[in-house]
This record gives sequence, structure tokens and C-alpha cells, in this order.
Amino acid sequence: MASEKVRILITNDDGYHSEGIIALENALSEIGDCYVVAPASEMSGASHSLTLARPLRIRQIDARHWTVDGTPTDCVTLALNQILSAEERPHICVSGINHGANLGDDATYSGTVAGAMEATILGVSGLAFSLVANRNHDFTESAKIAKEITEMALQEGLPPKTLLNVNVPKGIPIGIKVTKQGFKDARPVISEHIDPRGKPYYWIGEVRTGFHAEGGTDFEAIDEGFVSVTPMRSDLTNHLAIEMMQNWER
Ligand SMILES: [Mg+2]
Repeated sequence: MASEKVRILITNDDGYHSEGIIALENALSEIGDCYVVAPASEMSGASHSLTLARPLRIRQIDARHWTVDGTPTDCVTLALNQILSAEERPHICVSGINHGANLGDDATYSGTVAGAMEATILGVSGLAFSLVANRNHDFTESAKIAKEITEMALQEGLPPKTLLNVNVPKGIPIGIKVTKQGFKDARPVISEHIDPRGKPYYWIGEVRTGFHAEGGTDFEAIDEGFVSVTPMRSDLTNHLAIEMMQNWER
């Protein structure tokens, strides 16, 4: 009997038309059948949000491509429970390649990471890929890395309830490090502008004051030129704090 062909669900938060998801699909097409279910427009910063207060529309582009006018979490939920048939159920879900880093605290805002997390919650292994670059995104190397790590995840399997948040540095990485999530030093900067009708509007941005590139963190790996692979899970419990807070119990 011929071995079953690998099926891969692809999503992202930069939107269906972004360069990163196209590069990812091209690379992963070499290892299996890809099904793309992605937000119709950019959803960066959507985090793990689910759209509950308005209807969602699915648009089928062809036999293996769909857009959803919602978040990455909406996309994965609809892909696994509405769009794909039982025969099309994916072996793995790959999210990205994000235009920009998802390191440290920023992983909690990330729709890219959330797409992989939603798949993991729904019983499909999840991987998130991000390219650490502010502009001039060249996805050549990150697409190669995404293919390599996806193959490894399919071969070895992932630990239970675990997703991988993978960040790829600019240029050619010198290797791969398994890391823990770090903490950033940054503060929000709100810029105020006036619209043509004379009313103010705002953009949320931030200024980086530094980062802790130490202690086996994602920041350290990227700073040293490595690909950072951080195993994550949806369980947000701070296990250390449970011990510290024993005296709160009555
Ligand atoms: Mg994004």
C-alpha cells in the first residue's frame, strides 16, 4: 500500500495575498498537499481572537485555497470544522511566514502564533514561522527553514499540546536553537494625527529600549544569528507562582 500523502493546512495573520504565505506554500508544496485558509485582509496583532459578534464569510478561490474575513483563529476553526473534509484533515498546520518578529512578549499579540495554537488545541500539530526583519523581506532562507522544521515535526512528532514558535533571523542562519520566551523592554508610543474632517485619530506604536538577549531566550538566539524555536502551549499557568501563592489558600 502506498504511504499516505502528507496534508498541510496553511494560514497566517498578514492576509491571503501576503508574500510570506506565498513563499511558505511554495516551500511546503514540496513535501505534501497544501490547503490554504487565510484571512482576506491583514490581521496582525489579532492574537487568539475568535469572531463572535458578526457573521463570517468564506470565499473559495480554488480546490485548495480559501479566504475568511476574520482572524487566523477563525480560519483554523473553520478549516478544521467546516471547510476541509474528513479525507482532507491535515497532519499539521503551519502559520506564516510572518512579516516581522514574534519574539518575547510580542508572541502574545501574534495572530501567526495564535493560528498554530488554535490548531494544537483542536488536535492538529501547529507551527508558527516569522521572519525577523522590519522591511526588505526576503523569504528565501526562512522558507527553506520552514520546510526543514515542518519535515522534522512530521517525522519526530511534537510533545503533547505543544506548538512551536519559530523566528528566523535576517540573512543566512548559523544554526537552530531551542529557546524559551524572553521579555522585551519597550514602551508604547501613541501618535496623534488629525483627519480631513478635523477629528483626531491615533496609531499605536512602540519604542524599543532594549531586550534581554541572554539566558537561552528567543532574543538571544536571534541576536547570535540562530533560528529560534520556542515550544509553547495554550496553558498560561505560571507554575512557579502556584508555589509562591500557597498562603493565599483558605
Ligand atoms: Mg503579521
